Amino acid sequence: MMLTAARGSQGRYCTRWRGEVSSLFGFRFAEVRPIGGHIAAEIALLATVRRRENIMAIYEEDGGYTGYVRGFLPDILGFQSYRIPPYSRERQEIDYTALEKSVSNISPPRAIVLGQSFFVRPYDLKRVREIADRSGSLVIYDGSHVMGLIAGGEFQPDVSRYCDILLGSTHKTFFGPQGGGVILTNDEDVFENVRANVTWRTMDNYHPNRVAALGVAVEEMKRHGKEYARKVVANARKMASELSERGFTVKYAPPWFTSSHQVILDRDPPAYVKGGSCVRVSRVLEENMIIIDREARVGLSEVTRMGLSDMGR
Ligand SMILES: *Cc1c(COP(=O)(O)O)cnc(C)c1O
Repeated sequence: MMLTAARGSQGRYCTRWRGEVSSLFGFRFAEVRPIGGHIAAEIALLATVRRRENIMAIYEEDGGYTGYVRGFLPDILGFQSYRIPPYSRERQEIDYTALEKSVSNISPPRAIVLGQSFFVRPYDLKRVREIADRSGSLVIYDGSHVMGLIAGGEFQPDVSRYCDILLGSTHKTFFGPQGGGVILTNDEDVFENVRANVTWRTMDNYHPNRVAALGVAVEEMKRHGKEYARKVVANARKMASELSERGFTVKYAPPWFTSSHQVILDRDPPAYVKGGSCVRVSRVLEENMIIIDREARVGLSEVTRMGLSDMGR
């Protein structure tokens, strides 16, 4: 009985939100069951990469997501992970010429995985697509941090044109429920493989309450997403310049600073708080009910959604 009910509801319940989510992001197919961005990544990789094949990803030291580094998803799933050639750190850009070279040096990667946790600049996706087409690789874009900005058309608006898969969390700049992930694709075979890797492969229940909450967030996004995303990026840039004027060490060349919701500070800047570090700053803010991480990343999405625009204040 229980099993039948669970299975029955699975299809019915998700169908509507699948359509809403895919149209919001401009893809043909969407999977809304993954319970987080990490699980979405695991499912997408399981669906597309076989054991002993290669992937390339942006490594942690370049701002990438730890999950794609050796010891984590690649080891669990049984494939090799290679580093996408480091940026010009100052400009936060991939070295595309070096990428092209290293793609031809290793046996061709099954997937080139883009996306970062420290994420201030979109990619030249046309260039990556050309490189991937030459090596027969898929392009997977982990937009966990920037899903809300992508939905609002403010960051990497060409993702559905050039990438085979867009995946991400529902709870970062996309202000949906905690505990959600989505996978989007235009390729029906990829979508079928994704679906086949959900129930009893990577998860069991998908927790319908938060899928309902995702639906509410999608409706808000459809109405206000453009304005939200535009203001988030404008606020981030404004806050970066205000902080910089007040003696904080803000990363990346002024007056650009960032193209996303993130302002990245120096981890141990002399001017923060006397004798302080970003850990100390996070404690002071926490005592004042402002929760940030301890990695010197400031995100402007939530305050912007609540209507704050005076970054000087
Ligand atoms: C946060 C993050 C994840 C993990 O997402 P969860 O929803 O927390 O599981 C995956 N990839 C990137 C790039 C992230 O920043």
